[in-house]
Amino acid sequence: MNTLLAALGITALFSHTPVQNQGKPQTPKRQIVIAHRGASAYLPEHTLPAIAMAYQMGADFIEPDCVLSKDNIPIVVHDTYIDTISDVATKYPTRKRKDGRFYAIDFTLAELKTLAISERFDPTTGKAVFPNRFPIGIPGFTIPTLAEEIELIQGLNKSTGKNIGIYPEIKNPEWHRSEGRDISKAVIDVLWKYGYKTKADKCYVQCFDFAETKRLRNELGWNGLLIQLTTPNADKESSTDYDKLLQPSGLDEIAKVADGIGPWINQLIEGVVDGKLKINAIAKNAKARGLQVHPYTARYDALPTFSKTFDELLQAVFVDVGADGIFSDHPDKVVVFVRKLNRKAQN
Ligand code: CA
Repeated sequence: MNTLLAALGITALFSHTPVQNQGKPQTPKRQIVIAHRGASAYLPEHTLPAIAMAYQMGADFIEPDCVLSKDNIPIVVHDTYIDTISDVATKYPTRKRKDGRFYAIDFTLAELKTLAISERFDPTTGKAVFPNRFPIGIPGFTIPTLAEEIELIQGLNKSTGKNIGIYPEIKNPEWHRSEGRDISKAVIDVLWKYGYKTKADKCYVQCFDFAETKRLRNELGWNGLLIQLTTPNADKESSTDYDKLLQPSGLDEIAKVADGIGPWINQLIEGVVDGKLKINAIAKNAKARGLQVHPYTARYDALPTFSKTFDELLQAVFVDVGADGIFSDHPDKVVVFVRKLNRKAQN
């Protein structure tokens, strides 16, 4: 077969294929770059321009966070409320709930499409969360549906010949259930419709709620890649006990249903002691159970206290922790780092 291919002059196509039993090291699996909310450091998060930009920057996967509209359509926004990224408070002032917030689920898709989306801001002050990012108040950005984001990525896959994946997050399933909705079912219906079905398809589904992760696998029939997210319990992200879940016995439970974990970076690197990074055993224990490790979120403009530079952070995450991928608002910078790292590893 190889001789025939060589005769046809197309061996180069297969040059990355690991050669077995010849004493040569196999080509290491490259770390994956996940564009966190698209290229969110450069354009308003989760908008189609931010998705296209992340695609062009060379991200391997692009992340849509999913919540439901009033008409049960999965839309791509980070929170169940939409007053931190849109002009909903001025366009629909009477539609807030008792807590003063405006929720996506109270608006039809047609209504959501009338909103002007902007860089994330604090609704009490109107000030940008990241002041040096894209300016607030520039028109032309709207909320996409999950289907629209997939159509853009699959369209680009067709026109460029690449195969960039998606990394959808199921947001707040408990809250959606309290509103009488099944967000997981609505999201996986869209994924199935667009051909994401098995672990060979480039789609990781991620969720913070461990009960829901198990339900996705065991009850709803999601057979594709699945990632259990974790965060400090103090964040009250869901009723999952993350301290317990990140213990070896908890990782055993995760490994029964999921393909990896997505922890907050600081859950793996606890700081610096005597000039050295203090890295706990969580990533090592996860990898020993066959779980991939994809921490979040690497931000060039908001570094954790234990890293002086962005490259130092990426070095810690990929080399010292041994992570298999990372979520980043700056996918371009991570792509450059990962390419350099793998060139070094091959030399
Ligand atoms: Ca997310």
